[in-house]
Amino acid sequence: MSHLSPALIAPCGMNCGLCIAYQREKNRCPGCREEDAKKSHYCARCRISHCEHLTGPFCSGCTEFPCARLKRLDQRYRKKYRMSMLANLQEIEEEGVSEFLNQEEIRWRCRHCKEIVSVHRDRCIHCGQEW
Ligand code: SF4
Ligand code: SF4
Ligand SMILES: [Zn+2]
Repeated sequence: MSHLSPALIAPCGMNCGLCIAYQREKNRCPGCREEDAKKSHYCARCRISHCEHLTGPFCSGCTEFPCARLKRLDQRYRKKYRMSMLANLQEIEEEGVSEFLNQEEIRWRCRHCKEIVSVHRDRCIHCGQEW
């Protein structure tokens, strides 16, 4: 299973490859761009990925960008998980998805076991070490 792939970057800038729901073994969520029926309940009802203003692959192409809803999500993630959707989208805009993923490899690879960690956990779910 690959944790880092362009298909796993959600319209909001979330990298689903870092999501605990994607990384866990049981009831795994396949990521935002998959069918709703296969996703976690929370994300199946997400108003960002189902937004009527979304025309391109990412919110950054929208005329309302960054809308209040996206800003609220970004703020929650910055506070709680030390990650910013808006910074991700900016990096994708400026450097392209491939370079963004190269940087994600560096940012999110556990320095103990070399697996990709989850943004939602303080410890690596593969080796248990804090990262
Ligand atoms: S739960 Fe949401 S954020 Fe996590 S992998 Fe599924 S769609 Fe992505
Ligand atoms: S209105 Fe907000 S959620 Fe909808 S596409 Fe634009 S930025 Fe994304
Ligand atoms: Zn590890």
